[in-house]
Amino acid sequence: MTELEPALRELRSTCREVAVDLRSRALAVDARPLEMAAHLDSETLTSLRTASTPRRFRDCDDSLFGASYTGSCLARVVANAELACGDAGILSANTGASLAGLAVDALGSDDQQERFYRAIADGRTWTFFAMTEEARGSDASAMQTRLDKDPGGGWRLNGAKRYVANAVRGGIGVVFARTGPSALTIRAALVQLPAAGFDAHLLDMIGLRGACISGLAFDGVRILPDELLGSHLPASRRGMWGAGRVFNVMRAQIAAQALGVGFAAWGYVREQRPGWSGLDLMSARLAAARALLYDVAATIDGSPGDRRSPSIAKLHVTDLAVQATRWAEYALGPGSLAEHPLLEKWCRDVFAFEFMDGTSNILRLNIAPVPARQGLAS
Ligand SMILES: Cc1cc2nc3c(=O)[nH]c(=O)nc-3n(C[C@H](O)[C@H](O)[C@H](O)COP(=O)(O)OP(=O)(O)OC[C@H]3O[C@@H](n4cnc5c(N)ncnc54)[C@H](O)[C@@H]3O)c2cc1C
Repeated sequence: MTELEPALRELRSTCREVAVDLRSRALAVDARPLEMAAHLDSETLTSLRTASTPRRFRDCDDSLFGASYTGSCLARVVANAELACGDAGILSANTGASLAGLAVDALGSDDQQERFYRAIADGRTWTFFAMTEEARGSDASAMQTRLDKDPGGGWRLNGAKRYVANAVRGGIGVVFARTGPSALTIRAALVQLPAAGFDAHLLDMIGLRGACISGLAFDGVRILPDELLGSHLPASRRGMWGAGRVFNVMRAQIAAQALGVGFAAWGYVREQRPGWSGLDLMSARLAAARALLYDVAATIDGSPGDRRSPSIAKLHVTDLAVQATRWAEYALGPGSLAEHPLLEKWCRDVFAFEFMDGTSNILRLNIAPVPARQGLAS
């Protein structure tokens, strides 16, 4: 079992403390996700942004969370489980590096990283990571968005994306597209908004509304040669393959957020119905899931290419989180969703985690590929 070092225990307590502030903002962000002005300059959101920026790009170093917040997958998991117990929706609504930052860290040259982090240093700039396409969500390698050679130099981006967090808010992001037919030709381009030919619209969502999930269309968006990420890397690591390790970290982080929502529901029942039978059992199940997640995060830190462990963890934890919210709904009795707006919100939010970064069916295929399962059955 993974024991947390003192720095990570301190990170956990800090995140527990600031989760109270996140929760106090949860319903407002859920109701009006585009109105973030009242929240962005809060100490909590400012600190989260600073902590998710690599030290060399920080203008100041006053984050509440210290250096360790994004220093490892384990730190991300420890922090996100506690913060999401406050509220997961507002975590997705904040400005800052987010998933695009992980992709730029993995695929960007020094200059590209510098450009990305300088662009978001004002604390008012959102980032986006555009991979998913309609009807090709789980099979990203079948994406149709293209980078066509521009006779004037560079590339032109053409196509469409769907379910991309925060892209409707503008800012800077990473868009994946293919330069040719094979999966190895899928590359990532840095796109800074506004850009001619780029259109984004908000998709109406019932859960995790803070993420402002967007639909995107690209009509000849100009991509300069130095905006294509990964050119300094070997051909096999320039695009989606190179970003693979990012997905493992993100899977663990998303599982941690789902776990946080599960703990939130459990804590709410304990507060509203002290002595409710089943509190101990649910607490033990959530604590066991947290231990599993810590172990998996430590494994990813030692072996970032391992897809199986994060798949197991995300599959289990997202399912348990849904069970925990259903259990809370039952514990608080008929009408509970009408009487407890936070619980009602968590019951909506909790379903999003299954879909982000690999649906449960896809994770099952990662854990036990179909030929192996057939072999077992025969
Ligand atoms: C809150 C939220 C935030 C998101 N943010 C982003 C973002 O920032 N950027 C981005 O690019 N995307 C984002 N996504 C999109 C997410 O990655 C996709 O929803 C996900 O990849 C699944 O794609 P899909 O929704 O098109 O479902 P589909 O791929 O159409 O799958 C639908 C169902 O079919 C099942 N299925 C599909 N293929 C198989 C198969 N081979 N075998 C068995 N079952 C299968 C799936 O498990 C699922 O149950 C976000 C999604 C959510 C919910």
